[in-house]
Amino acid sequence: MLKIINPATEQEIAQVRQSSRDEVAAAYQEARQAAPLWAATPYQERARLVGNFRRILAETHNKAALTLSSEMGKPLVQAEREIQGALERIDWFLGETPRLLHGETVRVIPPMLEEIHYEPLGVVGSISAWNYPYLIGVNVMIPALLTGNVMLYKASEFVCLTGGLIGELWQESGLPRGVFTALNGAAHVGAALVEQELDGFFFTGSYQSGRKIAESLAARFIPSGFELGGKDAAYVRADAALAQAAASLADGAFYNAGQSCCAVERIYVAAEVYEGFITHFVSETKKLTLGDPLDPGTYFGPLSRESQRAVLDAQVADALSKGARQVLSGGRTTGRGYFYQPVVLADTTATMSIMREESFGPVIGIQKVSGDEEAICLMNDTAYGLTSAIYGGNEESARKIGKRLNTGTIYWNCCDRVSPYLPWSGRKHSGVGSTLSALGIKAFMRPQAWHLKTAPRAE
Ligand code: NAD
Repeated sequence: MLKIINPATEQEIAQVRQSSRDEVAAAYQEARQAAPLWAATPYQERARLVGNFRRILAETHNKAALTLSSEMGKPLVQAEREIQGALERIDWFLGETPRLLHGETVRVIPPMLEEIHYEPLGVVGSISAWNYPYLIGVNVMIPALLTGNVMLYKASEFVCLTGGLIGELWQESGLPRGVFTALNGAAHVGAALVEQELDGFFFTGSYQSGRKIAESLAARFIPSGFELGGKDAAYVRADAALAQAAASLADGAFYNAGQSCCAVERIYVAAEVYEGFITHFVSETKKLTLGDPLDPGTYFGPLSRESQRAVLDAQVADALSKGARQVLSGGRTTGRGYFYQPVVLADTTATMSIMREESFGPVIGIQKVSGDEEAICLMNDTAYGLTSAIYGGNEESARKIGKRLNTGTIYWNCCDRVSPYLPWSGRKHSGVGSTLSALGIKAFMRPQAWHLKTAPRAE
């Protein structure tokens, strides 16, 4: 049994039975049987059932947000916003998918006709992280189902109740048996899922877990996607609008208590405006209130995992021991709940773990740079490659700098932003493959090449 603890109160709120190995194998068999029928189901019908899911999620919006908030500590307002964002994404997928399903004739050279056809992958496995279960969930499940795949889905053990609720919503939406199955449990349940003869696999989580899974999948050559961690950097140029940049970056660093894959985790600031930026950044951070996640005024809820506080403590201690300056002190709060006040460190260097390892919490390092060249060099000096942000300059200079940054996403005068129209993809330890955009829909289909030659008629 998994004990579900509310991170704000440290009270046990539920116990959830984990799927056994036999149940995972049985779910796979059911999915395998359902796969050809679902693939042959007309798109309009698949879209109707996905539309049902969307409608029921919208109707249960309040309960879903409360459940999410109670099991992972996300402020209720942010949980509601996440679900609203997921609903909008579902609409986007419903609008976009039909045009991508059909094959195309790419060349006609009589008597030859060359065509590309697209088919569903088949049985798709998906294992997901806890920080945005609705958003990262729909990024996979909606295009997978709309393009004719069946799914086995395991939510993170830190959002088991949400994972179970998502499974129930799909059942209520009328999907045929075996088309979507939610599995419950920790990493060993995920490992049992990965052992099945999947036709495709999509993962969101840490580099460490993603790497283990990638190693076990490698010899199977199945289409897969890995959305992993980040150590996202921002660069504030000397001509940036400092107050706006600081407000934007404080939100980009600390939204969801910094527990976002694309949270800003390192800030490089041009020497000319370094101290001025720090003053603005600290003042913006002080405006963000920590408290009860159910209170509409709360910005910082608790961290989802108690163990992450030790990771953050260690990064802060390492930086301070190497000469960083604490410009906003915070850390663990006393009393119940896994709360952590934001910590802002200045004068950090590339040797400090806070500038190298994913923090995934409300701590940040700020470092002075001499200009564009040093900023570009430091931003790229990381094992990760998810997003980078540039503040200031003009569009031309931003494009020039952006071209030299090795991340899947580039922002100018903004950060921590995801659009369904654009591919979401990591480089290096941030993963491989794309969700969202046309690429993130096509990822769930395999192409088939057709060479059609009109034969001369028999006499
Ligand atoms: P995690 O790697 O600990 O767990 C992710 C999922 O993998 C969970 O469901 C877990 O049970 C499962 N798992 C772990 N080990 C496994 C194994 N050996 N075999 C099969 N399944 C296994 O990550 P997390 O703590 O849930 O999520 C936080 C991480 O996810 C951060 O690194 C964050 O940056 C990343 N993330 C990335 C994106 C993105 O889009 N790039 C989005 C959200 C989160």
